[in-house]
Amino acid sequence: MLIVKKFGGSSVADKERIFNVANRCIEDYKKGNQVVVVLSAMGDTTDELIEKAQSINPNPPKREMDMLLACGEQTSVALMSMAMASLGVPSISLNAFQVAMHTTSKYSNAKFKRIDTDRICSELDLGKIVIVTGFQGINKFDDITTLGRGGSDTTAVALAAALGADACEIYTDVEGVYTADPRIVPNAKKMKEISYDEMLELASLGAKVLHNRSVEMAKKYGVTLVVRSSLTTAEGTIVKEVKGVESMLVSGVAVDKNTARIALIGVKNSPGIAFKVFDLLAKHNINVDVIIQSIGREDTKDISFTVDEAQAREAVQILKENKERLTIQKIMEEENVAKLSIVGAGMQTHAGVAAKMFEALFDVGVNIRMIATSEIRITVLINLDDVDRAMKAVHDKFIDD
Ligand code: ADP
Ligand code: ASP
Ligand code: MG
Repeated sequence: MLIVKKFGGSSVADKERIFNVANRCIEDYKKGNQVVVVLSAMGDTTDELIEKAQSINPNPPKREMDMLLACGEQTSVALMSMAMASLGVPSISLNAFQVAMHTTSKYSNAKFKRIDTDRICSELDLGKIVIVTGFQGINKFDDITTLGRGGSDTTAVALAAALGADACEIYTDVEGVYTADPRIVPNAKKMKEISYDEMLELASLGAKVLHNRSVEMAKKYGVTLVVRSSLTTAEGTIVKEVKGVESMLVSGVAVDKNTARIALIGVKNSPGIAFKVFDLLAKHNINVDVIIQSIGREDTKDISFTVDEAQAREAVQILKENKERLTIQKIMEEENVAKLSIVGAGMQTHAGVAAKMFEALFDVGVNIRMIATSEIRITVLINLDDVDRAMKAVHDKFIDD
């Protein structure tokens, strides 16, 4: 069997954890499997590197930022190979350049285009465990790119797809995918399996246990994922195409605290304004999620929407520069908000799911600021301070103890 095993930052945070991972990989190797290991940066290394960059330049060039952040993963793979060498097992560490993992050119948010498998395959054929840096790629200028926070999951899935691996295992600091973040909702339940579509919604709505693009890619290439703990042997959660089973009404609850709300007050109540606003934001690659437009009063209306906190400042700046053309009287920005979402394929065929969610929020006195729905999710925007108890209340309303 060819197995791709990915370990997140907390799983390689110190010497003891590195040896723990080395031993888990060697166990599979000694059973006669070919093993490809994908690693994240150790512990909080990526955050620390970001802080370092900010201390030098609060607005660093994105190319240099990627050059810097890629160092974290490179440290992990080199140390892991040294650990394996000390245990007498042949291994080799490779970075994105050495493998040749080609991405789009966009620094800090690149996407895989093509992965050369020759080098990995020849090292595997030599009987080595191959240890690859997560999170990084190279673009057409031969520059290092990164895939966005949490991107090592996507590296693992992309490699599993390119190599035609028999298994792709994502090891982390919890025992699988739960009905809510187990650190916020202690009675959250581990799921045995979850469909790609539901997992994709959860991941996109803030459940960072898997990078959303890794799920997208797993679905596209039919890679079955297992999410499990690097510290226990508990069975994890399988992410795959789930068909034929009765869908859960609500399979999970997710929160996204890194969201900001932007309100455009007093824009002209005439056709084309919403188009011009969102077209402008789209042209700058700013992702907009929940949108509300007020009923027009006299000849003006208000438009509010949410964006990623990291993009809020840029969004406001762009809108300010175009204030007159877009007929905006006032722009307001607020970061003290969070998105709370429920996800479940069963929603498509059941009435009253939204009402039940709103009831749970009413029960704990949480005010809803905005609402958005799709076929399999309902999202509300609430105050940041309310989010943990709101999550617990909504979770307990839908998912029994
Ligand atoms: P890694 O460093 O291994 O990639 P992450 O920190 O990116 O780990 O993701 C694991 C974390 O995701 C968990 O510690 C947990 O707090 C959080 N999380 C959020 N939602 C969920 C969920 N529904 N199920 C499991 N974990 C979740
Ligand atoms: N080290 C990167 C991050 O912290 C990538 C990852 O962990 O997946 O975001
Ligand atoms: Mg992660």
